[in-house]
Amino acid sequence: MAENGNGSARPKVAFFDFACCEGCQLTVIDALQTHLELVEAVEIVQFREAMTEKGEDYQIAFIEGSCTRKEDEDRLRKIRAQAGIVVALGACAHIGGVNALANLQPSLQDVRQYVYGDKWDWYNTYPARPISAVIQVDAFIPGCPIDRVEFLSVVKQVLLGKTPAIPDYPVCVECKLKENVCIFDKGGVCLGPITRAGCDAICPTYGDGCEGCRGLIPNPNENAMQDVLLKAGLSVEQLRARMTMFNAYDPAQIEA
Ligand code: SF4
Ligand code: SF4
Ligand code: SF4
Repeated sequence: MAENGNGSARPKVAFFDFACCEGCQLTVIDALQTHLELVEAVEIVQFREAMTEKGEDYQIAFIEGSCTRKEDEDRLRKIRAQAGIVVALGACAHIGGVNALANLQPSLQDVRQYVYGDKWDWYNTYPARPISAVIQVDAFIPGCPIDRVEFLSVVKQVLLGKTPAIPDYPVCVECKLKENVCIFDKGGVCLGPITRAGCDAICPTYGDGCEGCRGLIPNPNENAMQDVLLKAGLSVEQLRARMTMFNAYDPAQIEA
């Protein structure tokens, strides 16, 4: 194991991607460019988006993307068997994210044909799921994409042997602390009351309602949220679209 500036061994870290847009890995690269102390504190042995080496000896694995194929499961289990710590990176890995929208369609076969046309049978798929549906996950970094400051914080906590502290209160708390005028008072809609904070309420702060990319808080009152959205003028279809943009995944979908 290589050593850091203090002469101690550097933990080996690997990044992996499954079904996703790889935007969270781009955020990681962006964060590391301005925090070289982190690059020096660890030894990155595999990171397809940033380097060609593919080291298979690592202690910490960051996994981006959803599991969307049976064969992905073996790859996930192999990573889990090697890594002491597995971190889900971004909404696709954490909650299924936008990939799980495909699960809402009447047939995955229709989805394959829509995306791949007459080459649909080149590509296997099954209902999209977060990686925690396949392997045990030790920590997660929410968001689509992840927040670069939160990524740096999580890495530091993991390196210190701590369980990363991710907020479990709603976006509204951060929004109120910023003294924003509520989007509902401006005629819009927002999922802030049921969505996990940690993004500093960035969307409402810049005038857009929250779409729930960081996942739901523990015990969200979804029924009350739906009542509020309907009273704000959303049709049932619009409500469904808003509620499922990032949070379409339902474990019952993978039992079917
Ligand atoms: S969470 Fe969003 S930004 Fe990250 S990989 Fe998935 S789709 Fe891309
Ligand atoms: S704008 Fe959204 S996040 Fe902010 S207070 Fe209103 S509902 Fe909550
Ligand atoms: S406000 Fe909502 S949609 Fe926007 S980044 Fe935060 S959690 Fe995601």
